[in-house]
Amino acid sequence: MEAKKRIALVAHDEMKPKMIAWAKKHKSSLSQHTLFGTGTTGGLLSSEVGLDIVCLKSGPLGGDLELGHLIVNDGLDILFFFWDPMTAQPHDVDVKALLRISAVHNIPIACNEASADFLITSSFFSESYKKETTDYSAHINRTTSV
Ligand code: PGA
Repeated sequence: MEAKKRIALVAHDEMKPKMIAWAKKHKSSLSQHTLFGTGTTGGLLSSEVGLDIVCLKSGPLGGDLELGHLIVNDGLDILFFFWDPMTAQPHDVDVKALLRISAVHNIPIACNEASADFLITSSFFSESYKKETTDYSAHINRTTSV
């Protein structure tokens, strides 16, 4: 991971005010990096916080899956995802897919404000970082009987 990170910011509707307030607090750190957001979250971070951010599709319309695509293709380093533990989401399977693929690729994730504070204040946030990668060749090369 380079010093300048590719970072995604996502917040479910009930969590958006929290993410906006958090991003205002950390605007100077966030603005050092390349930022991506799901549509509505990204739009708010642009209009309310003044961050320069690439807006993908809205989460329920595929934005979470677009982030998964970036992760699979080594296009994303860190995920700040304030998901809502108290409200059912129509795109719950997409949320689960994003969290799963982040785990597969050892992506640092912050799912609430406290973990986001820890992540953004880590020295690695502004330095290069050698991330462990898992060797998936056994899975790729496995043979199956048909
Ligand atoms: P949104 O999507 O930023 O477009 O609201 C977030 C989500 O629910 O995944």
